[in-house]
Amino acid sequence: MGAQRQLDFGDGHEAPAREETFAGLKLSYSRRESLEQCTRRYFFLYYGRSVEDRELRAKIQFLKGIKNRHLRIGELIHLVIGTYFKKLKDRKRVAADGLTTWARELFQQDQIYSEHIRRGGTATKQPFPPATLDEIVNEQEAQSEIMAQSEQQLLKALDRFFISSTFAEFRTLGVSVNSHIERKFSLDGYPGVVTGKIDLAAPNEHGVTIVDWKTGSASDGGAESLQLAMYGMWAMAEFGIAPESVRIAKAHLVTEEIVEFGADGQAFANARARILQDFERMGILHGYGKTGTIEAFTPNPHPAVCRLCPFRKLCPEGEVAVND
Ligand code: SF4
Repeated sequence: MGAQRQLDFGDGHEAPAREETFAGLKLSYSRRESLEQCTRRYFFLYYGRSVEDRELRAKIQFLKGIKNRHLRIGELIHLVIGTYFKKLKDRKRVAADGLTTWARELFQQDQIYSEHIRRGGTATKQPFPPATLDEIVNEQEAQSEIMAQSEQQLLKALDRFFISSTFAEFRTLGVSVNSHIERKFSLDGYPGVVTGKIDLAAPNEHGVTIVDWKTGSASDGGAESLQLAMYGMWAMAEFGIAPESVRIAKAHLVTEEIVEFGADGQAFANARARILQDFERMGILHGYGKTGTIEAFTPNPHPAVCRLCPFRKLCPEGEVAVND
């Protein structure tokens, strides 16, 4: 079936040309994941600026900047590890203790700043502002305990990264001459732009090893196989290697586990097919998003997702799911 036919919804409008359908559309793993979880949240995140109502538009922009603690802790861990490797590769002095203290202070500043915002304070305009934490601005119950637990998780993950023998191989790879740290990439051959960022990729005697740092345990599930396959597809193109020469590992820092992703030709072919399907679905919604047609984006309330969604105050369906 041609794309033009697929995009004809019988709403009286002529289907746009294929290039027009995908114009300005960028697919990243996080974008397609948010679409998969809830279409309404996807609208808020990627098309909030198109909303005509000025007040609602401002609220969406504010909520978009709010992060839950899991997200923020993951960001800080990636920031520290990335900084550690980059400094070592630049032959600069770097101390694990100093970086860990830095992360802890950043998280404490986040909490102070979030309190300030909760009390109605004005948002800072500094270039790298502290995070506004969902749990604090929304006065979640037992927030002090929750923040203390998150800080412990942050410190434990960094401690394991710096000293655990499980990750010794990756620490060595990260400082190797040809390693790539926080490498942004794009994939060719799709209707629109496909982008991503790899924590660590380094060529070695077997091909290329890619490492993805994780804060949760391996038993939390592995819905990110598409993301890992995207990394592998980039490595094959970048280094001109076969699928079997790509090793992709998830490094679960807190639990000191390494989980290998079965990278093979079939996994990459499946990933390519899924990306193309995602583009079709995103392309259909793109036109509605650009015109701020929020009704085309149906809420998909699910307590576990809504509880961590910053837009729940704008979403009656989500509020019900959380309070049920
Ligand atoms: S609160 Fe739930 S249903 Fe509403 S936008 Fe967020 S994830 Fe979707």
